Amino acid sequence: MTAFWTEADYDEHERIEFVHDRESGLTAIIAVHSTHLGPAAGGTRFWHYPQAEAAMHDALRLSRGMSYKNAMAGLPMGGGKAVMLLDSKNTKTMEMLHAFGDAIDALCGAYVTAEDVGASVQDMVTISERTRHVCGLPAAEGDAGGDPSPYTAMGIFLGIKAAVSHRLGKDDIEGVHVALQGCGNVGSGVARLLASEGARLTVADINAERAKALAAALGADAVSTDDILSVECDVLSPNALGAILDDESIAKLSTSIVAGGANNQLRNGRHGAMLAERDILYAPDYVINAGGIIDVALEYLAREQGKPCDIDEVRERIEQIPVRLREIWNESEESGLSSDIVADRMAQKLIGRG
Ligand code: NAD
Repeated sequence: MTAFWTEADYDEHERIEFVHDRESGLTAIIAVHSTHLGPAAGGTRFWHYPQAEAAMHDALRLSRGMSYKNAMAGLPMGGGKAVMLLDSKNTKTMEMLHAFGDAIDALCGAYVTAEDVGASVQDMVTISERTRHVCGLPAAEGDAGGDPSPYTAMGIFLGIKAAVSHRLGKDDIEGVHVALQGCGNVGSGVARLLASEGARLTVADINAERAKALAAALGADAVSTDDILSVECDVLSPNALGAILDDESIAKLSTSIVAGGANNQLRNGRHGAMLAERDILYAPDYVINAGGIIDVALEYLAREQGKPCDIDEVRERIEQIPVRLREIWNESEESGLSSDIVADRMAQKLIGRG
């Protein structure tokens, strides 16, 4: 593995912890990008990385993304992320989770973990047996915490409505055609909310059965994953993988708006500008998909302060997502800069790196 400070993704990260525990076999990286606004919060990704460089790349890039996301969501939290390097069978044991909990605890609250790809609520419970600096724990009815995806979906739904109003001048989404890529936890939640207000939906998932079942339940159309990006629609909502907006896919888009929850949708820096050149309104992913981190961060902060987890505050903060998006789009139109650049600059200012 090369030195992290020579990595292209190194961005003045405050600390990078390499964790190895011989007894359990745990190998992990904890990246703290910024604690300017508070403890660095961001989930742990459990993944089999054929090359260790890819794990470092993920930790550096995703932790910076969390700094931006938490700052733009108005949370008193910095940004961090951890990756646990699993073997090719994705072996994850209680002993590894305990050793990982000990490593987080040794950081004395500088880093707070939660669920990410490959993690379950139960994993967070196991980690919490060794440290209190963990969120996304099971929540009682009406409390913040638990599975963050319904809150992520709620924020994306409100963001889509704001985009439709901003670009199409329509204050409801009745009859608005949304093409939705990915019918998992987030995508299916967004689809249900859209359907409940009369949007027309076309959905796709690599798990074709999942897409068909969702389409049947909501009266939507299901298409293949090859076709979803070129469906003629009002809104394209990516809720599957990152890096789906590249030279090839952007050339095929037939939409006025891109607004969805997948992290890191733009393959690289120039693709935000390409969307703007095609006059497609883009909702920066880390702004529109912040509902889940708002939920679990408030769960953590309430617990630390010995207060009840206030679900109304979660909702109020999620309702600020469209406000923030409008600010970005207005600034983008005034400055001529693409919305992803405007969002990055706002976030950098908020974390003291403007
Ligand atoms: P998930 O695993 O529940 O769902 C992802 C879905 O995408 C699956 O149904 C999968 O089959 C499908 N998929 C994968 N590749 C695809 C492709 N090429 N075309 C179409 N479908 C494909 O995950 P999720 O929790 O719903 O998260 C979805 C996205 O949202 C991810 O990028 C995640 O990082 C991001 N995100 C999630 C949350 C959250 O609260 N869960 C928060 C912020 C961001």
